[in-house]
Amino acid sequence: MIDSHCHLEQEIYKNDLDEIIQKCKTNGLRAVITSCTHPKDFKKTMDIINKYRGFVFATAGIHPLYIKEISEKEIKEYMELLRNNKDKLVGIGECGLDFHYIEEPEQRERQKQLFIKMIALARELNKPLVIHARDALEETLKILNEENAANVMLHMWGGHNLMDQVNTLGYHVSMNSIIMKSKTYGKVIKKIPIDKLMLETDSPWIAIKKVDDGYEIDNKGKNDPTTIKLIAEKIAKIKNVEFEKVWKTCSDNAVMFFNLNS
Ligand SMILES: [Zn+2]
Repeated sequence: MIDSHCHLEQEIYKNDLDEIIQKCKTNGLRAVITSCTHPKDFKKTMDIINKYRGFVFATAGIHPLYIKEISEKEIKEYMELLRNNKDKLVGIGECGLDFHYIEEPEQRERQKQLFIKMIALARELNKPLVIHARDALEETLKILNEENAANVMLHMWGGHNLMDQVNTLGYHVSMNSIIMKSKTYGKVIKKIPIDKLMLETDSPWIAIKKVDDGYEIDNKGKNDPTTIKLIAEKIAKIKNVEFEKVWKTCSDNAVMFFNLNS
């Protein structure tokens, strides 16, 4: 299995990343994709993939929620940095739109412009895109479509009512432990073909804890990529397929999507 989306550069892993990577290997993971979401994290992300070469791979973008703290000059410099390091990246993102906490029209417009630039960069560098979308799902699909984005992974996608469009466009969806509590995401899982599905943990976030009748989200917990097994089990139930089928197919999908065998 491959964790298609997490954030290993976060402070919380400062002292135990070696242990976590070892735990991933003994739990049957074959790779982890870590996503750099802010220019300040880029160097740390590169250090991590150099240290765990061949096991941890990186994508890099700017999370839309950081829009207010990033100047146009920084965006320009960062895009150049990504160009110069394109051989170290397996994708661009996460990037996209998040209107949940960003209300100012001019900042939403800046998010859109940054998103369009990221799509163009992915095309220029021939890399797949990792997309974050929240409270702007239709706008996100509209921009991806208008900009002719080709290889798209919608991370933690909640737009079950937009799945016809997603499937027509041929996009991938990656899902995490949010499906433990939310029926909305379960509907997405039912509608996405298994050959377009990838699994992720979004670690260190969206930890889960065991309760009497299953699992629930533990907002204070520290997640790591090994919880992907529980997500695979849940998805096997929702899709009514064998666990092994989910485990293998979603892993193969990630290898192909991120071109990990090259
Ligand atoms: Zn993320």
